[in-house]
Amino acid sequence: MALAKLLSQSLTRRVAGSGFGSPFARRSHSSVFASKTYISPKARFFNTSSPKRNASSAKDASPSPSSPFKNRWKLAKRVGLGIVAASVFFYGVSIYNFRHPDPKQPFPDPSKKTLVILGAGWGATSILRTVDSSLYNVVVVSPRNYFLFTSLLPSTATGSVHSRSIVQPIRYLLRHKSHFVRFYEAECSDIDKDGKTVEIRRKTSDGQEFVQQINYDYLVCSVGAETQTFGIPGIEEHGCFMKEMWDAQKIRTRIMKCLEQAQFKDLDPETRRRYVHFVVVGGGPTGMEFAGEMADFINADLKSWYPELANDFSVTLIEALPSVLPMFSSKLREYTKSLFAKTNINIRTQTALKKVTSDSIIVEVTDPEVWAGGNRPRPLIKNLIESLNEQTNRRGLIVDDYMQVNGMPDVFALGDCTSTAYAPTAQVASQQGAFLGQLFNKLGSLDFEKPRVDRHIAIGEELDSAALISLANEKHASTKVFRPFKYSHQGSLAYVGHEKAIADLNVPFLDKQIHASGYLAFFFWRSAYLSELYSLRNRTNVLLDWIRTSLFGRDISSL
Ligand SMILES: Cc1cc2nc3c(=O)[nH]c(=O)nc-3n(C[C@H](O)[C@H](O)[C@H](O)COP(=O)(O)OP(=O)(O)OC[C@H]3O[C@@H](n4cnc5c(N)ncnc54)[C@H](O)[C@@H]3O)c2cc1C
Repeated sequence: MALAKLLSQSLTRRVAGSGFGSPFARRSHSSVFASKTYISPKARFFNTSSPKRNASSAKDASPSPSSPFKNRWKLAKRVGLGIVAASVFFYGVSIYNFRHPDPKQPFPDPSKKTLVILGAGWGATSILRTVDSSLYNVVVVSPRNYFLFTSLLPSTATGSVHSRSIVQPIRYLLRHKSHFVRFYEAECSDIDKDGKTVEIRRKTSDGQEFVQQINYDYLVCSVGAETQTFGIPGIEEHGCFMKEMWDAQKIRTRIMKCLEQAQFKDLDPETRRRYVHFVVVGGGPTGMEFAGEMADFINADLKSWYPELANDFSVTLIEALPSVLPMFSSKLREYTKSLFAKTNINIRTQTALKKVTSDSIIVEVTDPEVWAGGNRPRPLIKNLIESLNEQTNRRGLIVDDYMQVNGMPDVFALGDCTSTAYAPTAQVASQQGAFLGQLFNKLGSLDFEKPRVDRHIAIGEELDSAALISLANEKHASTKVFRPFKYSHQGSLAYVGHEKAIADLNVPFLDKQIHASGYLAFFFWRSAYLSELYSLRNRTNVLLDWIRTSLFGRDISSL
């Protein structure tokens, strides 16, 4: 897939770059070799009786041209071997580089501005990848010290993929930056926009709490959002969310506990069936993917290991809207519905969750007009919104085209904690992150503006990021140094179970959308996720997990 593409590209570069390895050199070398060693069948016959005569006969015998097929086969074999060798080389070098970060990673110049980034998710890591750490004192604060590849979280909940395969410790990334980046595993609990400080808190396992302040020149909020519960009674106590890694681990343990409970002695059939009835709430891509993964788990593994329950398993997906997967084309929605019907996943649309108890859920047929998104702001963001007159949307921070937070100079926000025209997706957050990384690189190297900047500072006028951006754009009106963020939608992908996926893909150069479903889309889904995974380490682990699952099935220990 993408790795193979990269490897073959690197091979092409290597072959094209060296005369010794070029295909022409190889071809001529190969033909000389062939004419020297060619022995006609007649010569071979004489070879057994008289070596001397054989030698002269072999010299005399005019070599017949070898078949073009044979030559091509030889060439293909050599190219194949070359690709394998280059891949092994590339893989080895990448692993070596990964395991050996620079021991002398320089500390940044303390006179430089401090850039504080809150979060270690899609948005934050995308900035971190792009930003030049020599231009700032970069500080990252996040309560979890790893990046989570959320797209494969439903697969970890059923055990198709190991949880550690889809996370990337943030320090792996930071140690490979050109200059040292500080990381605090802590939660930001307050932002003082006037004093330009953030308050960070860290609780230890023995209940102690450490609180500190960090000064910033620029601050980025990339703290994501929480799952919206709509205040449904019982959902926090009895339901499982699908947001963080610990949620997926909880789901997995709960599934296995339910299965063993269903096998307990002398259980009545109705109770047993209830223990193995799995209800998924939400018909967006995450809910559909989890339902598909659950059906796979049941059909491929659980029915074999729990034969007494084989006829009791069931999966129901409920959705408040009239249709599931609203972001996909109607053709793909219909395809998914018919596939779910075949795999015994019962879809109930226009059905809203009203109450959750320890052993049942209460639902209600809904009015399709009434619906709200699945995210709600975290307490930090909620407090900011409530404290600022410029922030009027309760769902997230309002930002301008450069992702500057309205009413908070030098504070930027992106991803799920903002309220923009874009959907709360990883695709949006990572594009915004890359944009902000470049914006900070430009802000950090505004040397050409220095005389003007200094003049402003000299007259006591502090320049914030907004002023710098407009100054630079005004001075270079023709080129517009800072351009506003523009989102480019690549398409939507979802796994729907039974080794099938659906894909609505945008092809920019054709200005067209392609709809794909089935095995081909499944292959594409896997390739796309493999290439998007954070590192070679993640890619290797996920690939090995997929192989492991197809060979041995999913693990069923109730760990
Ligand atoms: C199960 C699942 C599957 C998904 N699949 C897809 C998909 O296939 N494609 C897609 O485009 N999108 C997908 N999404 C959506 C996507 O994951 C989010 O849109 C994306 O994570 C948003 O990125 P973010 O950086 O805003 O927030 P996040 O990635 O959630 O990162 C937030 C970070 O902030 C940290 N944080 C939280 N509170 C604080 C605090 N107070 N101080 C400091 N740090 C804090 C968190 O620990 C975390 O590191 C999926 C989401 C889920 C839950």
